[in-house]
Amino acid sequence: MVEKKKKRKYIFVVGGVMSGVGKGITASSIGRIIKSRGFCVTAIKVDPYINVDAGTMNPTEHGEVFVLDDGDETDQDMGNYERFLDVSLSRENYMTTGRVYQSVINKERNLKYKGKCVEVVPHIPLEIISRIEKASKKDDADVTIVEVGGTVGEYQNILFLEAARMMKIKKPNDVLFVLVSYVPIPSKVGEMKTKPTQYASRTLNSAGIQADIIVARSERELDDIRKEKIARSCSVDKNSVISAPDVESIYHVPLNFEKYGLSNTILKKLDLRAKKKDFGKWEEFTNNIENAKKEIKIAIVGKYFSSGDFVLSDAYISVIEAIKHSSFKNGLKPKIAWLNSEKYEIDKEMLKELKNYDGIVVPGGFGTRGIEGKIFVAQYCRENKIPYLGLCYGMQIAVIEYARNVLKLQDVHSAEMKEDAKYKVIDILPEQKKKLENKDYGGSMRLGLFETKVNKETQAYNAYKKEIIKERHRHRYEVNPEYIEQLEEAGLVFSGKSPDGKLMEIVELPKNKHPFYLATQFHPEFLSRPLSTHPIFDAFIKNSTK
Ligand code: GLN
Repeated sequence: MVEKKKKRKYIFVVGGVMSGVGKGITASSIGRIIKSRGFCVTAIKVDPYINVDAGTMNPTEHGEVFVLDDGDETDQDMGNYERFLDVSLSRENYMTTGRVYQSVINKERNLKYKGKCVEVVPHIPLEIISRIEKASKKDDADVTIVEVGGTVGEYQNILFLEAARMMKIKKPNDVLFVLVSYVPIPSKVGEMKTKPTQYASRTLNSAGIQADIIVARSERELDDIRKEKIARSCSVDKNSVISAPDVESIYHVPLNFEKYGLSNTILKKLDLRAKKKDFGKWEEFTNNIENAKKEIKIAIVGKYFSSGDFVLSDAYISVIEAIKHSSFKNGLKPKIAWLNSEKYEIDKEMLKELKNYDGIVVPGGFGTRGIEGKIFVAQYCRENKIPYLGLCYGMQIAVIEYARNVLKLQDVHSAEMKEDAKYKVIDILPEQKKKLENKDYGGSMRLGLFETKVNKETQAYNAYKKEIIKERHRHRYEVNPEYIEQLEEAGLVFSGKSPDGKLMEIVELPKNKHPFYLATQFHPEFLSRPLSTHPIFDAFIKNSTK
C-alpha cells in the first residue's frame, strides 16, 4: 500500500509597528491551540541577524541565549516554543541570515548549483524554503509555525518574507499569514488608534503578502468599531481580527485566543478537519496560576538588567519562567526581583536586603563585571542560611567563595577572570584551550545535553530521584580537579559529576548545614516547562517556602 503523503501546513507569524509586543508568545500560543486540536505542531524561528547563531550576541542587546539539546545557541523565542508546545527542538528549527548565506556560499563552493549564476533572489529564499520544509518533515508536523524576526518594512527580513511569499504561491491552500500588530492608546489622545496597524498591513502588502489573520496587541480589549476598521482597511474578515489585550500571565494567551475561536478560524482557512478541543493539562496549569495566593519572593542577582534608563529582564527569561513554573505548581505566587550585583561592590551593607527574599538565584554569566558582588551574595546566603541556587556561573561563584572564605586561600579566582590567580579553582576545560588560542569563539563552548551521575543521599538526588540525568550546558570553564579534595574536606559536596567522574556538575551543602545551597554547572532552566516543571527548581522553591 502506498502511504498517503501528509499535507503539511505552514503558518507564518510576522510583526508590524514595533518589536517587543509579543510575536513570540503569539506564535507559541497559536502552536498550543492547534496542538490542542490534536495536530502535530512544530515551530521555526528565523532571525534576520548576520550572526550565525545567537551565541555571539550580547544578552543586553538581544536577550537570553537559549540552548537546545543539540547545543545550538538560539534566540529566546525557541524557549517559548519549547515551553508552550512541550517539545524539544533542534538546530533545524532555527535559522539566521548568516546561517542561510553560509550554506548557500558553501553549496556554491561545492559546485552544488552546477555552474549556475547564484543570486540573492531566488537562491536565498529557496534555501530558506528548503530549510523550513526540512524542519517540518523532521518533526513530522501537520502544522509548522514560522516566526519571522523583526518587523515588516525592515530591510533585514525582506528575504524571509520573499521566501514566505514564494511558498504561498506554490501552496496557496497550505500557507497562512498572521500579522501581529500593535494598537496604541496614546495617553494624551485617550483613544485606541488603528492607523499604525493599517500601515503595517500595507507594508506587508508591498512585499506581496496579504495577512489572513491580524492579532491586535493592545493594553485593552479591542472594541467593535476598531475591529471593523482594521478588518475593512486591512482586507481581512472581522472574525480574523483577534483582540490580544495585556494579560496577567503569558500562559493565558492561548485560552484568550480561543475566546475568539482562533483555532477554528485557522483550521478552516487551512482546510484542516478540526478535531475536538482538548486543553487538558494546560487549563489545569492556568488554573494553578489563578489560584496561587501565597507569595514567594525570589531575587535574581545579575548584571544584564539595565539598558539606558530602563530595566530589562529578558536576558534571564528561562530562569524567570522556571521559577514561575515551580512556584505555580506549589500553589505559590512568585514575586521576582532583579538585583544588580555591582551595588554590593560599592556598599556591602546593602547585602542585608537579601534577607527580604525567600530565595536567591545567581544565574549564568560571563566576564568580570559585577562578579565580586555576586561572590559577596553567595557568601551572605551561605552564612545567613538564605536559600541559594547557582546556575553555571552561579556555581563557579559558589566554589570561588568557598575557597576564599572557608578554605581561607588568598588570591582565588576563575581563570576566566584572572588568568594569573594563585588558586584558579575554576579553570578552563582542557578541550577549550586550543579553541580560545585560535579565537574560535562561535558555537565552541561545551554546549547542549550531557549526562550527569547524581550521588545518592544528596539534595540533588532528593530532587531528581534518579542517578543518571541529562541537562543542557553552555560553558568553557569548570571546577579545577586539583582543588576538589580540599574543598570536599572543608564540607562542600560535589553531588553530581560527569559519568567519567572528571567534571563537577552539581555542588551543594548538606541539608544539616543549610536549608538549600545548591548550584549546577548546567542550566536546568532550559528544560523547565509549564507542564513538566524542573526537579531542581521544584526543590529550590519548596525549600525557599517558609
Ligand atoms: N563564564 C562561565 C563559563 O564559561 C559560565 C558560563 C555560563 O554561566 N553560561 O564557564
